[in-house]
Amino acid sequence: MRKPIIAGNWKLNKTASEAHAFAEAVKTAIPSNDKVDSVIGAPTLFLADLKNVAKGTDLKIAAQNCYFENSGAFTGETSPAALADLAMDFVIIGHSERREYFHETDEDINKKAKAIIANGMTPIVCCGESLETYEAGKTAEWIEGQITGALKDLTPEQVSNLVIAYEPIWAIGTGKSADATIADEICGVVRQTVAKLYNDEVAGKVRIQYGGSVKPENIAEYMAKENVDGALVGGASLEAESFLALLEAV
Ligand code: 13P
Repeated sequence: MRKPIIAGNWKLNKTASEAHAFAEAVKTAIPSNDKVDSVIGAPTLFLADLKNVAKGTDLKIAAQNCYFENSGAFTGETSPAALADLAMDFVIIGHSERREYFHETDEDINKKAKAIIANGMTPIVCCGESLETYEAGKTAEWIEGQITGALKDLTPEQVSNLVIAYEPIWAIGTGKSADATIADEICGVVRQTVAKLYNDEVAGKVRIQYGGSVKPENIAEYMAKENVDGALVGGASLEAESFLALLEAV
């Protein structure tokens, strides 16, 4: 049985005081960790404070990115070792916005995945196709390529513990969510790719989220699908009430 994982991705939103107030408001209302992993993906600046606020509760915190080196002359980057020292639970990597605006490649994402795992944290590896690829009917091969690149040289045990988020770019922030059947089908492609690269046991363990215009009103449709183990949520994770409503729907 795979434990559901609902993660908010705040992207570049909120000030330090707004982030603090949000975590204070939700922390005691978070459902039990036995039932669901409830995660907030926050800007790097707020991570230390959010970990402090969340201490002793079931609220988990994710970074939205990190570098693949632990230290050195890499001005402006975030060290995975430093995130681990803050006891970060997850690190989101390979989001389509990072690929598009910051030119991240599958190779970079693979290096980041290895660095995050080496530091004892869990990567949430994002994949997803453009509208053009979707309309050309090439989603499956695109996703297979991204997953193969991102997981290169990871061991079966490492992949068993991973989280992969399928986020069609055309459904992000557009209000145009993918139909739950399509989401299930492509999350299934992710799982089959893992089965092909590793085996059925690993594919049965890896957790796969759908992301793209998920909200409290539609999350249950996704969660009911066999291959969907959770959601990565942007806009609807920004308000405390809405974030809690997403968790309650699981
Ligand atoms: P929205 O939920 O705002 O569509 O964003 C999805 C996303 O990109 C989460 O990582």
